[in-house]
Amino acid sequence: MDSTNLPEHVRVLVVGAGFGGLAMAIKLDEAGERDFLVIERGPDVGGTWRDNTYPGAACDVPSQLYSYSFAPNPKWSRSFSPQPEIQAYIQEVAERSGTLDRFVFETNMDEAVWDEESHHWRVRTSAGEITAEVLVSAAGALSDPKAPDIEGFDSFEGEVFHSARWNHDHDLAGKRVAIIGTGASSIQIVPEIAPVVGHLDVYQRTAPWVIPRNDRDYTRLEKLAFKHVPKIQSVYRRAIYWGREMYVPAFTRQPKLALPAKKMALANIRKGISDPELRAKVTPDYQIGCKRILISNTWYPALDRDNVELVTGGITKVTPSGIVTKDGTERDVDVIIVATGFHTTDLPIAGQITGRGGVRLADHFAEHGMQAYKGTTVNGYPNLFFVVGPNTGLGHSSMVFMIESQADYITDAVSHLKTHGVVSAEPKPEIQKAFTDDLQKRMQRTVWSAGGCASWYLDDHGRNVTLWPRATFTFRRLLSSFDAESYELVANDDVRVQSVPRATDITSNDNPANVADHDKEEATA
Ligand code: NAP
Repeated sequence: MDSTNLPEHVRVLVVGAGFGGLAMAIKLDEAGERDFLVIERGPDVGGTWRDNTYPGAACDVPSQLYSYSFAPNPKWSRSFSPQPEIQAYIQEVAERSGTLDRFVFETNMDEAVWDEESHHWRVRTSAGEITAEVLVSAAGALSDPKAPDIEGFDSFEGEVFHSARWNHDHDLAGKRVAIIGTGASSIQIVPEIAPVVGHLDVYQRTAPWVIPRNDRDYTRLEKLAFKHVPKIQSVYRRAIYWGREMYVPAFTRQPKLALPAKKMALANIRKGISDPELRAKVTPDYQIGCKRILISNTWYPALDRDNVELVTGGITKVTPSGIVTKDGTERDVDVIIVATGFHTTDLPIAGQITGRGGVRLADHFAEHGMQAYKGTTVNGYPNLFFVVGPNTGLGHSSMVFMIESQADYITDAVSHLKTHGVVSAEPKPEIQKAFTDDLQKRMQRTVWSAGGCASWYLDDHGRNVTLWPRATFTFRRLLSSFDAESYELVANDDVRVQSVPRATDITSNDNPANVADHDKEEATA
């Protein structure tokens, strides 16, 4: 759809056209809900996979699982797909879905305000105003690059760009380059650019745990099998899903179970680096799993190169020509690559959303902590749903699995509102509180909280507001249908609706029997 022609009103407005927004469009369409619109600030579908085009960009979760369950792709060339293949996959799924006529690109959501009189969201976009009965944020958690807060950063006179906004027009050949950060992005970039640049300084604040990457090309036979015998591909997918799910107890209950991974990571260091001093510098001093475990066979050999220096002294400032560390050394460079991650614990879109009583969601989160019932809905923000909301992130498995769970739940909610004449739905405060308290209690015993590290999983108060602390199948079960009884509902005649639980609502989180069941399953999984 052309952005100059926005309708005045839609039933469902989805913000963002990455994996999440596209899943929403497909699920709504399948459910017969045609009155929806997806607005996207970028020029295409793909979200983070459209934006992250840095050299070496690839996914750490095998593509058989990091893809929609309803759209298997027999064309994956290898187990861990590179970014161009993932982006091409998302584009192909979007085209095949027949929903692209309801996508508007290069349109930013500037502001969304809940109108209590009309029970609509009044949304101001860069292409004009629109009202919506339901607002779905599928803006993603890794969409807004975070620049480091370093003195003098803006004074640097050379080239600077963030890993997620790679400047392909700037040739790095022979240049003196600095990269700040040693996270998932940096460890993919460094091995790619080290052979090309003149000299590379890698600024490490905290060493990551890095295990080998068991990546390989699929054989011709495998590719033929994926194409002609879909069942085989689904067996691969299931095997990967359950293999990944086995990591959950190590993260959430029994850190000792991560010992084999730690041994693999230490062997990876010994194999990749010969210099004992450098080996010591890259060996983490916190529990494995506390930060995201990274996978690479090329990171350590790249650090071991003669033209690469790992700088661990800590940055004090940036000057017009280089970077100064705590010991007073200034290293001059032509280019600074910022691989310092994203705004994850403050969800930037929250700054643009104002709910009941005129309270901005960002202020609400600042006061109460970033939290949402089932990672999806927030009391005080009627008819607002998140795909990839608070505490839905994963350290071990596919976000697409979580996205599909939420897209199904939201689609069910949208249908429920329509069939029951409900104009406003928000989680009951006590239900949201019970959900959040339970989640945070579970969080305390996880390696992310007790593993002795700082990470982007934690907010300024040390609360983990990003990760899901349980099995992913539990998340799917909890979101298997819209649990209307957990919501304050207003009918179109302004009458509060007393909803009757349906048979499918028995998986509701506030049903203690179910929580116990899920615990049992997680313990045995
Ligand atoms: P990240 O994991 O948040 O890493 C940021 C890095 O920058 C960390 O090493 C951090 O150090 C460092 N840093 C931040 N501020 C700094 C400062 N002021 N001075 C020095 N160092 C600083 O970011 P990312 O690598 O972009 O990855 C973000 C997330 O994106 C990943 O966790 C993952 O979920 C996703 N991702 C996935 C893939 C994949 O699947 N292969 C690839 C890329 C990204 P500290 O550790 O000390 O904070």
